[in-house]
Amino acid sequence: MKLLLHACCGPCSLEPVRLLQEAGYAITICFANPNIQPREEYDKRLNVLRSWADEAGIPVVDLPYDLDAWRKTAGAVEDAGGPREERCRACYALRLEQSAAWGAAQGFEALSTTLAVSPYQLSEVCREELEAAAARHGLACVWKDFRPYYPTATTRSRELGMYRQNYCGCLYSKAEAEAERAAAKAAKAEERAAREAVQEAARAERASKQAAYDEKQRKKKEARNAARRAAHDAASDTAHQALEDEGWQG
Ligand code: SF4
Repeated sequence: MKLLLHACCGPCSLEPVRLLQEAGYAITICFANPNIQPREEYDKRLNVLRSWADEAGIPVVDLPYDLDAWRKTAGAVEDAGGPREERCRACYALRLEQSAAWGAAQGFEALSTTLAVSPYQLSEVCREELEAAAARHGLACVWKDFRPYYPTATTRSRELGMYRQNYCGCLYSKAEAEAERAAAKAAKAEERAAREAVQEAARAERASKQAAYDEKQRKKKEARNAARRAAHDAASDTAHQALEDEGWQG
């Protein structure tokens, strides 16, 4: 069966392509991602995907970079203060609709997406939009939850030296990811400071106990010495007295 696989990037394509090929599908990758900003980032992700797919012998088609269409749909949700889920739903809907329309026109029979491999995507929303886009264009919807293969995809992409982006695609997601990383860094620093404070308090307590012990020992020693001196003096007085009593004149 001829399947058009909507792909968001190279690393996310590795496992879905392998699994769908194993299942017998004839795959063409469709890069329909006007959500990716800035344009240099879009080109970078597309080039990484292309160079891997060329080597693997998988055809890749990239649809026009229609940023205006994205701004009028997903971007408009964000501008109106809508929640992330709605923004992402509109984003999935646009990219999958573009893919489905192109695929149907080109004689494909089925539609799937690599978005299903990422634990950072809204899996259920993505599935709903894939089903809707496929149904609108008479394509079979091939939905597979690829998320269990995400760790393998991470390892494989690392081994292949693939560029792996650290945000989903739109500028909102870039800002959100940066804020999340900053918050995680701050939380880590706070944890470290708290841990160090506990260690410092324990060190101070140990030092204070040691100082108290040393002082006690010093006082004991002083008392012992004083007692020894007193005993010595007393003994010497007794001896002198005895000699005097004997009338010795040495
Ligand atoms: S976070 Fe990702 S899926 Fe959601 S709107 Fe941005 S690019 Fe699209």
